[in-house]
Amino acid sequence: MSFSFSLNATDGAARTGVISTPRGEIRTPAFMPVGTAATVKAMMPESVRQTGADILLGNTYHLMLRPSAERIDRFGGLHKFMNWERPILTDSGGFQVMSLASLRKLTEKGVTFKSHIDGSKHEITPERSMEIQKLLGSDIVMAFDECPALPADRERIAESMRLSMRWAQRSRDAFGDRPGHALFGIQQGGLERDLREESAEKLREIGFEGYAVGGLAVGEGQEAMFGCLDYAPGQLPQDKPRYLMGVGKPDDIVGAVKRGIDMMDCVLPSRSGRTGQAWTRRGQVNLRNARHADDPRPLDEACSCPACARYSRAYLHHVVRSQEMIAGMLLTWHNLHYYQELMGGMRAAIAAQDFAGFEARFHAQRAEGDIERL
Ligand SMILES: [Zn+2]
Repeated sequence: MSFSFSLNATDGAARTGVISTPRGEIRTPAFMPVGTAATVKAMMPESVRQTGADILLGNTYHLMLRPSAERIDRFGGLHKFMNWERPILTDSGGFQVMSLASLRKLTEKGVTFKSHIDGSKHEITPERSMEIQKLLGSDIVMAFDECPALPADRERIAESMRLSMRWAQRSRDAFGDRPGHALFGIQQGGLERDLREESAEKLREIGFEGYAVGGLAVGEGQEAMFGCLDYAPGQLPQDKPRYLMGVGKPDDIVGAVKRGIDMMDCVLPSRSGRTGQAWTRRGQVNLRNARHADDPRPLDEACSCPACARYSRAYLHHVVRSQEMIAGMLLTWHNLHYYQELMGGMRAAIAAQDFAGFEARFHAQRAEGDIERL
């Protein structure tokens, strides 16, 4: 069986469809929980699946350093190693080399750097990134790219984008013929429309199974990001999945889907779950806050996740304040459940040609804010 994408419905620029892979279907728009180090922190893989996730993201940079791609390969690949049978997308390692590693040296060939864990020296090139992602057994492989932090001057963004396009070609060449697996190209160009078009043209020429809008959510702010998403997805092929990397908050996600994005990932629901923060239909709730200490009500009465179905706000507040592990477990579960419900709601609304109605209800509920304190 091969990798394919079919669109079921569109509503304005918003789209819903299905990505088919030998490891299962991915309903789009899709949110991918992040399993950085071969685990979605605080969650069992079967629990992640129960939240409604069709696919996980793994981080090449972290996994190549520890436990190493070669070791994961010896244990039968990442799916088997971490007990997740469904599709996995891996990033190329490029972004985290730039954000985490020290003593980076960037050349035409690739990047050398020192590990943030033990200072050991490593190199990632487009060829090595393809090799690592193959050893991991990733279903969706990302081309190796370079992404400058914004703001950066136009010259720097243009140079970086053109280097990434040369690396995209090398990634395509090194990926080889792997039926059932997909390689995604990454559009760069910062907030410069003509550079984005040049990048998209080059990627279309090379040809990929899917396309990412890269270089956003790096500090430009939501308004600038949406401004770019007003045209960037439309520069990419209509009949292939479009992935917005590293996004985001619930309102970022709704705005991105509205503008034609099919896939997203973010550490936010899992990371904030470990710091006592919950995301609900009515916005963000801080369970550390003393107002919850005597509150017998669930976090969200309409939510069917274990945290809401079986526990009170008072209990969640207590375990957050006591730094009990179950606090991170319950709130991560709730947050991932909420994100997946949000995606499911958007898929249904697009299919029903009611995305505008969905968006209006989404913002109206959030504007109400959290329930009144008792
Ligand atoms: Zn819940």
